[in-house]
Amino acid sequence: RLSRRLEMIAEMVPPGSKLADIGSDHALLPTYLARQGRITKAVAGEVNAGPYEAAAKQVKDAQLGSPIDVRLGDGLAVISPHEVDVITIAGMGGALITSILEAGTDKLAGVTRLVLQPNVGEYNVRSWLLAHGWVLVDERILEEDSKIYEILCAAPPDRADITNDQLYAARVLSDTVTVDREELLKFGPHLLQEPSDVWFMKWQHELDKLEKIRARLSLSQAEESRRKEQELEREIRTIREVMACLQ
Ligand code: SAM
Repeated sequence: RLSRRLEMIAEMVPPGSKLADIGSDHALLPTYLARQGRITKAVAGEVNAGPYEAAAKQVKDAQLGSPIDVRLGDGLAVISPHEVDVITIAGMGGALITSILEAGTDKLAGVTRLVLQPNVGEYNVRSWLLAHGWVLVDERILEEDSKIYEILCAAPPDRADITNDQLYAARVLSDTVTVDREELLKFGPHLLQEPSDVWFMKWQHELDKLEKIRARLSLSQAEESRRKEQELEREIRTIREVMACLQ
């Protein structure tokens, strides 16, 4: 059985796609989609030999008859331009995901959808998408095994029913609280639209974490700690205000 996280990622892959799953590990995602007949072809990319061999074995054992090509290589180097129309990159840090995209921008030609699931650093991923003209068309958030995951789905502007200007326009939440682009990049412009219990849980955890750091900083006499403390103070206040408005 697939984890709920991978199942949700699978749901965001449109039927009939030609998929590249980068950092595929055991190739669970493409194997699941191929078994259900939901993709026409897949490339499972892996940079490390161990997971690459596990992926190759998984695909061989699954006897799918449908083509999943397991390839050893770094990031998008395993695909050619226009070879696939959907790319999934899941289960890594946001910085690694954006570095993979950055190093392979030429391979994004012909890609109509990116499904990205950073374990941390969602802000970085949203910022990268915005800076490179990709439009965030959907976002999901889920909890599994006490971890919270966000899944970000992006499309080129001609495939999106909203523009980045609309998505990241400042939003008035109350008489005193307006969220600007920076905050939308942080909280998720779609997630903020209809925040779920899991979204509140995520930001409550974040608040608890920041409060602990602030308490530690307050013990230090260093000027640098005062500056950081003030920064944290502002961050904590914003999170509190946004959560209060949406509750
Ligand atoms: N995508 C699967 C998932 O979400 O369950 C597996 C996630 S696993 C934690 C991350 C995988 O990414 C590892 O198997 C690792 O070898 C692979 N990886 C890390 N950097 C990579 C890169 N630059 N190119 C391809 N694969 C990479």
